[in-house]
Amino acid sequence: MSSDDQLISEEYGKFQSLIMGNGVDVDMIRKAWEFAKIAHFGQRRNTGEPFVLHALEVGKKLYEWKLDTESIVAGILHDTVEDGGAEKEDLSKEFGEEVAVLVDGVTKISDIKLRGSMNEEFIENLRKMFLAMAKDLRVILIKLADRLHNMKTLHGLDPAKGGRIAKETLEIYAPLAERLGMGQLKAELDDLAFPYVYSDEYKKVLNQSRAFYKYAESHIEKMKRALLSAFSDFNLKCTISGRKKHLYSLWKKLERPDIEWDFEKIHDIMAMRILVETVSDCYKALGIVHGIYKPVPHIGISDFIAQPKPNGYRSIHTKVFGHEGKIVEIQIRTYIMHEEAENGIAAHWAYAGEKSKKGVDEEKLEKLSFGKSFSKLSWVKQLADWQKEIKDTKDYLNAVKFDALSSRIFVFSPKGDVFDLPVGATPVDYAFSVHTDLSGYIKGAKVNGKIVSLDHQLISGDVVEIIKTKNYKQPSADWLDFVKTTQAKSQIEKQLRKADNPI
Ligand code: MN
Repeated sequence: MSSDDQLISEEYGKFQSLIMGNGVDVDMIRKAWEFAKIAHFGQRRNTGEPFVLHALEVGKKLYEWKLDTESIVAGILHDTVEDGGAEKEDLSKEFGEEVAVLVDGVTKISDIKLRGSMNEEFIENLRKMFLAMAKDLRVILIKLADRLHNMKTLHGLDPAKGGRIAKETLEIYAPLAERLGMGQLKAELDDLAFPYVYSDEYKKVLNQSRAFYKYAESHIEKMKRALLSAFSDFNLKCTISGRKKHLYSLWKKLERPDIEWDFEKIHDIMAMRILVETVSDCYKALGIVHGIYKPVPHIGISDFIAQPKPNGYRSIHTKVFGHEGKIVEIQIRTYIMHEEAENGIAAHWAYAGEKSKKGVDEEKLEKLSFGKSFSKLSWVKQLADWQKEIKDTKDYLNAVKFDALSSRIFVFSPKGDVFDLPVGATPVDYAFSVHTDLSGYIKGAKVNGKIVSLDHQLISGDVVEIIKTKNYKQPSADWLDFVKTTQAKSQIEKQLRKADNPI
């Protein structure tokens, strides 16, 4: 047995003992593994590793996301058609139509060239990808698992190619993960891509943040001890942990005009996370926290349980004065909300799968109420519904031309982040969708490098830049006449009310 063979069989052995007895079809997965080994025989990745280990990593990630056997099998087989010379017919014969369709979907998405962004072709490609997603969301989840492992092994590529893939990851895949509510994956993809796309800035943030992370860590540790004892006095079960703000999002925050690289203004470089059993425990926990640490006036509490974020995110955030008057963000949520926040759609899928199994307690599953937040992803769902209406799959390619997203446009920040907005949206809508704080500094706007009026109607592919004032500027009541998003409308009204009734 060569050392390669040995490595390959050892790695699979580990995976097999991981999945054994955990509700997946171990025999079918093993069969996929044997198939992939033959298809990728002798192939190597650019890192020098046997190719088939890449397939295994993808399958493993899908298992971690608690996806079904078909997804894991398709994950292991995902490159056998494109790189391994297998035929779709072989797959459907060996593993069934469902798996074959999943692999085919992943292969098709891989053909979509997403690079060379910010033109019409790019938007069209983005649309195709969304259509593929709507057809079967598992296709996108497999693709995301694939991309994650590719990013982890990017060092095997030459820097120019690696840089392009990293840029695409930042522009497309990370925002897509975010939109699917997969916060953990988004953070991971961002941070893997960051050093390749903005290497100087990456080094700068890395070096300058080190001391702040270290200080925050010890500070959080002190607060954790105080809180744990308070929670036990109140007999409330909880898990408390610290979470580091991921580097890429730290950088983006540092770049904001209201922060301007002042680390003192960043209150969530480390946040505390308190996990409890039920929603009512969340509010009890909030009471206990505020009993020890006072909330910071004005910026204190955001209740995303009462009002979830558009991607379904639920949690209570409170900014409190910790020890030595340091401001610290504390996030309070249930275990379920946490699972949902970390794994988003994948979590939803896992529970939907549970539901279809017999003998599962319906009531218990209802309580998890994943469906509720899933519906927040309404435009994805709309696409899915529309897709179902297309009976003849031959119409598929034609259907791509039919503008399913005609009510949405996609615009870009100067850094290449994608924002989706309703048709007719203006630079002001854009500013509010980037961040409420940006909206307090609007002086003017540029679209594709040219100055435009604030009521200028954006179109897909526009690169939008907000020209900022130096100091906070209250929104103008006139903006209400042309903004399109409810987010902008309600924020403008809120800020105007505040100005009328200063506290
Ligand atoms: Mn792959």
